[in-house]
Parts: sequence; C-alpha cells; structure tokens
Amino acid sequence: MAFKTISVKTDGTQQFVDITQQVRHVVRESGVKSGVCWIFIPHTTAAVTINENADPDVRRDILNRLEAAAPSSEKYLHSEGNAHAHIKSSLIGASAAVFVEAGQLVLGTWQSIFLCEFDGPRTRNVMVRISPG
Ligand code: ZN
Repeated sequence: MAFKTISVKTDGTQQFVDITQQVRHVVRESGVKSGVCWIFIPHTTAAVTINENADPDVRRDILNRLEAAAPSSEKYLHSEGNAHAHIKSSLIGASAAVFVEAGQLVLGTWQSIFLCEFDGPRTRNVMVRISPG
C-alpha cells in the first residue's frame, strides 16, 4: 500500500513528536524501492518539519522562537483563541517530502520527521504517500 494515514496522539499543548519510525514503517509496507515519500498534515494548528533529533534543545529552541513570533497569550482577531497555533502552522508548513532509495527514507544522520503540535493535546492525522519513480 502506497498510502496510509497515521494517527498520532499528542500529550502537550505545544510539542514536537518524532514520527520517523511510523513513516519508515509505511515506506517498508509500500515495497517501493525508489521514489518520494510525501507527508501531509490535514490540520490548521499542526505542522510537519524535518530537523535535528539528537539534542532536544533544538526542538525547544524552535518552539520558543515560534512562541516569540506568535505569543499564545496575545490577543488576535480570530475568536477561537488559537490564532497563535494557526500562525505557527503556516510558518512551519503542512507538508514535507523525503526521497526513498533502496527502500529506505533518505534522511541525514541527525534528521527526524516531526509532527508539530501547536494546539494540543489532540489526536492528529498524518497522511503518508509513497510515489514510485
Ligand atoms: Zn482556530
């Protein structure tokens, strides 16, 4: 199967969740040896990014700087109270792409794929499609 939706439960209001292993599993299941793995988040207050997995301070620094750019305590026009999360979602983006070679994700040594939660805790869907080519 070259398409799968992964369900991810987040347990914090704002956090990065490493989803690399779940995405690797979809790649393995697909049987695709060469192509592109697309990761898409169908949510407006979450995002997906690829960054360092070794030092958790990197994730904290990113979250802190996003919080400085769009403080959760500030007043916004959007009345739902989560405008900061919408802004962070757009700053990071809803999709990522990783090459697949020899049936494996081509990630750098220190890279992981992260679901970025900005308005949790919630259950999030992560859509993964493997396009051969
Ligand atoms: Zn909203």
